[in-house]
Amino acid sequence: MAEKFDMLIDGQKCQASDGATLEVLNPATNEVLAEIPAATPEDVQRAIGAASAAHAKGEWAGMTPGARGDVLLKAAEIITARAEEFARMETADVGKPIVESQAFDIPMAADHLGYYGRLAVDLVGETIPTMAGVFDYTLREPMGVVGEIIPWNFPCVLACRKLGPSLAAGNCVVIKPATWAPLTTLMLADVFAEAGLPAGVLNIVSGTGSTVGQAITDHPAVHKVSFTGSTEVGCMIMQRASGEAKGVSLEMGGKSPAVVLADADIDGAVEGVLFGAFLNQGECCCAATRVCIDSSVHDEFVAKLVAKTKAIKVGDPMDPDVKMGPLVHPDHWDRVSRYIQCGIDEGATLLCGGPDKPQGLEKGNYIAPTVFGNVTPDMTIYREEIFGPVLTITAFDGVEALVEAANDTDYGLAASIWTRDLRNAHTIASRIAAGTVWLNVHNFVFSQAPYGGYKQSGLGRELGREGLLAYTETKNVIAWLGEQPFAWY
Ligand code: NAP
Ligand code: MG
Repeated sequence: MAEKFDMLIDGQKCQASDGATLEVLNPATNEVLAEIPAATPEDVQRAIGAASAAHAKGEWAGMTPGARGDVLLKAAEIITARAEEFARMETADVGKPIVESQAFDIPMAADHLGYYGRLAVDLVGETIPTMAGVFDYTLREPMGVVGEIIPWNFPCVLACRKLGPSLAAGNCVVIKPATWAPLTTLMLADVFAEAGLPAGVLNIVSGTGSTVGQAITDHPAVHKVSFTGSTEVGCMIMQRASGEAKGVSLEMGGKSPAVVLADADIDGAVEGVLFGAFLNQGECCCAATRVCIDSSVHDEFVAKLVAKTKAIKVGDPMDPDVKMGPLVHPDHWDRVSRYIQCGIDEGATLLCGGPDKPQGLEKGNYIAPTVFGNVTPDMTIYREEIFGPVLTITAFDGVEALVEAANDTDYGLAASIWTRDLRNAHTIASRIAAGTVWLNVHNFVFSQAPYGGYKQSGLGRELGREGLLAYTETKNVIAWLGEQPFAWY
């Protein structure tokens, strides 16, 4: 029997007003895992109304920052106490290996809330020296009602990445999880209730992007839309938000390079690129998808990488020995499989993996980790975001050609550089147009360090202090303290 999940509106767990539901599939079997409410536009209206009323009441924003922080710290504690339950749900819903949910997703989700719980007391304004007789200072105020829309690849992490800072800053929130993997986000309703968040401050509304996502984006009472997902949808949200000059923050797609220089530790680079490319089945916005490598070390790197890739255990994501589970959904499997076929058709050399399901794994959305050699920069698989376990390798001659190749993309989320030369590492880091540059590592993200994209990978930054300030309005207060009134006429 599929478990039935509720959404959360105005402190009440509820179903859609017309009773409509959506089925959520287990990607390992494509059997129905759960049913979630398919909210109507009226339900979204009610959720935004509840958030607006909570904002107007001022209870949450009026609490001491420390008390707000305590609620987030308590929520982090509850997630940590329920980590195994959250990890199993994330794996059942998304298909990511249980060892990843346990090691990365759930601890990081709790860490995001804990970090912003601690940072809540650090939200301070400035005093600004201007002129004699004037006292000028700034206040950091909550924006009001924030709409948050998240994707399916790291649901719990990305929900907490938005809820932590927006709530710490005193905002009221309506959040929408992705239809393909909504379950851990819906589970947060109980977490925040137990942590003591006042009713109406957080509303969780499930349903499709075209209904729920658009209703959030279009609503005049929403002051900011914080979106993580594809560049296509993000740009559409920006357009729709423009009418009322709403704030937007966009975390979007990527096509991140791993740049391997001639002097790199090749064994280290192979390990790092594997982690960069195949974590979460490659369904990772900052995944290392393009290896741009110096010709002189190409053959050694490819031989070692392909051998290790073939040894990755693909299968039931609940098996603790498995390091690659199924893709999230059959439609997404089709898309990734088509890209692999396209790579073959355009003349790249398939070194391992391929467009078909591995033997014995036909029921789920499995694809073997796939590596292409002899990839040229004009090929589709080199240019477009695939969002699956597909890695391309292209050789270049020398540092200049490698830097140029790294930047030859419309995206700019991340890049990694693999070298033993300190000077090269930092010089190249400054020349790459990406929000994160890793040196001799890939896919590391920390609560206290900013994350986001250059170019078409995004707008604004999440995490760190910048991530908190992004959910505030700055008010400048200018006081005339002169003994005489200021007079001109
Ligand atoms: P997506 O299709 O853009 O969906 C993201 C979210 O937007 C989902 O909740 C979706 O709802 C919703 N949505 C869809 N159409 C909408 C509309 N017209 N108005 C408002 N909301 C709408 O992306 P995805 O396939 O879930 O995720 C994969 C993408 O996310 C990749 O491009 C990846 O690079 C990017 N991503 C970026 C980051 C980052 O930090 N930069 C992190 C993770 C993922 P439904 O689920 O109901 O369609
Ligand atoms: Mg699912």
